[in-house]
Amino acid sequence: MNLSGSPCIPHKPESTVIEDAAPVTVALPDLVREVVTPAVAAEILEKTRLHGCNPRKLDSSHARRLARDMCSGSWDDYNPDVLSLCGHGAAIQGQHRLEAVIISKTPRSFLVARDVPHGAATTMDCGKARSAATALSLVGVGGHRKDISSTIRLLQNYDVERKKVAWPAWRSVVYTNAEIVRFFQSKYSDLPDFLPLMTALQSGVFSAPAASLACAYLVHRDGGSTSHAHDFFQGLVSGAHLDTADPRWITRRYFHSPARPRRSNITSALHLGLLLKTWNLWVTGQTWGIANFRATQRMPDIVNAPCPAQAQHAFKNPCQDRHVIPRRRAGDGASVPGQTMSMMRLPMKEGFPA
Ligand SMILES: [Zn+2]
Repeated sequence: MNLSGSPCIPHKPESTVIEDAAPVTVALPDLVREVVTPAVAAEILEKTRLHGCNPRKLDSSHARRLARDMCSGSWDDYNPDVLSLCGHGAAIQGQHRLEAVIISKTPRSFLVARDVPHGAATTMDCGKARSAATALSLVGVGGHRKDISSTIRLLQNYDVERKKVAWPAWRSVVYTNAEIVRFFQSKYSDLPDFLPLMTALQSGVFSAPAASLACAYLVHRDGGSTSHAHDFFQGLVSGAHLDTADPRWITRRYFHSPARPRRSNITSALHLGLLLKTWNLWVTGQTWGIANFRATQRMPDIVNAPCPAQAQHAFKNPCQDRHVIPRRRAGDGASVPGQTMSMMRLPMKEGFPA
């Protein structure tokens, strides 16, 4: 039985189908595995320009991304995507890979088809593009793959691009699927441990999924105290027992406002900035009048939670924001709301690598 419930009818063998008809002429080109050096690649691209055989504009940033994969070991030489050359020897498919060979200065093998008619390009690259989320499934990531891949982008921008690129421009930083997989495996493989906290933040605060997961991850990784992180997120998620001077109360009010920005390419980075600022204010005993994170502000570093001995030294990391108002510091007894609340177990990991 198949899925529709009707009995399976065995397919007629192919040979029987064409038995009575004229033999089908197979028009597919022969494929040969060839090593393409940077010089050969340049020659093919020169012919492509000369004869105008490829109307598709060469996107140099896409070629640079492929070259990054080739240089970093993320390029898979088993990839059987064909390099299609026309009768002129020009590339009607594969010009970005050829450009990447030139940029990476490394010869690569490709399956090459020659004498492909120009018209065949009409149906090339019309397949559905594979997402980074799909690529993550191949390395064993189970649920929430789309959220995890967006979060890896956000974390990579936070960790690597933060000092180079202003956060509103993070949307223009594009990573290949192979890079997302590599970042996951080399740096963020424990990200799925924080999914329950992401879900809690999404439903309690209404922050974007990637911002929620990235904040949960970064505060645990860089915040210096699992117990402070636990207290912080408990109050932020539930809102229970927060006084109105608590920065988490003010942040919640921002996120619960109907006027907050909802959908844009930079929502995740904006929300991450707001959540990290909230942590920094809370952990240093400060608050703010209005939750805000401007396009001109830097994505914040994460302030370390005070160890008990440091708790006396208030405002060691004063925030330059004019909306910031001093309050009691996190860890000063009464200023730690929500400690008695019974709440969901959050994925607190002891001994999180620094
Ligand atoms: Zn041609």
